[in-house]
Amino acid sequence: MSSTKQLSLLRPKVTSSFTCLNMEAAAMRQNSTLICVPIMGDSIDKMAIDMDRAKASGADLVEIRLDCLKTFSPNEDLKTIMKASPLPTLITYRPKWEGGQYEGDENKRLDVLRLAVELGADYVDVELQVAREFNDSISGKKPQNCKVIVSSHNYESTPSIEDLGNLVARIQAAGADIVKIATTALDITDVARIFQTIVHSQYQVPIIGLVMGERGLISRVLCAKYGGYLTFGTLDSGVVSAPGQPTVKDLLDLYNFRSIRHDTKVFGIIGKPVGHSKSPFLYNEAFKSAGFNGVYLHLLVDGVANFLQTYSSTDFTGFSCTIPHKEEAVKCCDEVDPVAKSIGAVNCIIRRASDGKLLGYNTDYVGAISAIEDGLQGSHGASNSTSSPLYNKLFIVIGAGGAGKALAYGAKEKGARVVIANRTFERAKELADTIGGDALSLADLENFHPEDGMILANTTSIGMQPKVDETPVPKQALKHYALVFDAVYTPKITRLLREAEECGATTVSGIEMFIGQAYGQYERYTGLPAPKELFRKLMSTK
Ligand code: NAP
Repeated sequence: MSSTKQLSLLRPKVTSSFTCLNMEAAAMRQNSTLICVPIMGDSIDKMAIDMDRAKASGADLVEIRLDCLKTFSPNEDLKTIMKASPLPTLITYRPKWEGGQYEGDENKRLDVLRLAVELGADYVDVELQVAREFNDSISGKKPQNCKVIVSSHNYESTPSIEDLGNLVARIQAAGADIVKIATTALDITDVARIFQTIVHSQYQVPIIGLVMGERGLISRVLCAKYGGYLTFGTLDSGVVSAPGQPTVKDLLDLYNFRSIRHDTKVFGIIGKPVGHSKSPFLYNEAFKSAGFNGVYLHLLVDGVANFLQTYSSTDFTGFSCTIPHKEEAVKCCDEVDPVAKSIGAVNCIIRRASDGKLLGYNTDYVGAISAIEDGLQGSHGASNSTSSPLYNKLFIVIGAGGAGKALAYGAKEKGARVVIANRTFERAKELADTIGGDALSLADLENFHPEDGMILANTTSIGMQPKVDETPVPKQALKHYALVFDAVYTPKITRLLREAEECGATTVSGIEMFIGQAYGQYERYTGLPAPKELFRKLMSTK
């Protein structure tokens, strides 16, 4: 099987992997993948506090990382910590040579793991390199309910599917009760090989397959779909035992981890960067409230075509596109809606269930233009092209990328006189020629005020978090505008909007565009009417 083998043939099954769940929690679960919290305190007391927090957070088990302890007396401390744990325990004593912190004698380390087995640990993690020796040494002495996880960590890359298959075989041959493979994602498509490995191996042996790094995030969530044995969730954001771990809270509340089933449809936002996006929060809440069987993920994608070809199963059902992929996405779709084609940018891709064909749409332009019209009218209400308050207005668009094209096209449709100002003048000129408008360089915008009462729409990422002190236009130029719109929505009120308001202009936040464009996408994803009130309420809390 090639490394880019598509995921279309996968037939995941749900494995029953854990027996200690309370019945109520078990009844709410749609999958049996466990959530494990790494406990990395540097003292026994800190670990005890974190184990209680792990239980309160909704985790199923804790991984006690003994190598994080500053001082450790095995006979005493191991008993204390295992007794204090309110959840089943996985004991790990990771050496430096496998990415951990332990640097001492190898025999002493393995003695501690043997002691953990004796003391009744539910799981013990042992690295592949020493697993055979370790398993031989506990043969006949291991209690039946103690499982040995044999682990392999690759901090460089994700091997080919053939090499992963061989690795599983070697781990099994070393006596694993549970196989653990953690690799590193150089590209999001690397994760597909881990999904294939989980699906192909889980009938023979329970398997944990996780891919480290931000590009590997989907492995940590979709392991519930493909039948992975467990995933890791941290207590605090950024305090991780391996790169890319989400928090337990995000797993449970943001991605609705317990609701994911083998037939759950996958959606997500394709972008780079993408971690800031609020789309997963919005769609997952809406899916939950409608009882829709879908999960919506952050997808850090480097190449759209490669991503769409690799995840070609109809289970990978719909994608929102953001920076910098909207224009590239047009080329990747089999059919593109005429409006999206005219704009030259797709922000919504649907994979048609009947034939797997990719359909591209643009919902940005309706979202943005109606938000600006509402702002001009001072009320909510649709308008047609002849009665639009944009008619004959001088409408300046900053930016000529995906959002810029959508705004320019939409304003033109409503009868506005459109001027494009862009850092790269040639792109401004090209867009202006396409829609029938004028072009400016970004540097000339400051002194461009042929009339008062103009409309300004920023569609660049200038002013977006973390560079919130930046603005595309100096404040003194803003007094010529009646309305200023900013597509940036993190933060909600950008420096541009704050200064525009101080100059007396009406302001419209990117949040309004965000909500508007999301209606159209949600309806295409689910076939259900968008829960408009819910969207508005959710975004007001963010
Ligand atoms: P895009 O296709 O990559 O286009 C980016 C545009 O911004 C280009 O015109 C680029 O100019 C310009 N630009 C980028 N960095 C710049 C800088 N430092 N100085 C001057 N110009 C710069 O991106 P996009 O998809 O259109 O998104 C643009 C922004 O709109 C993002 O902040 C995104 O979050 C926001 N957005 C918001 C919504 C919403 O619902 N509120 C929807 C879509 C997009 P060059 O041509 O010179 O490279």
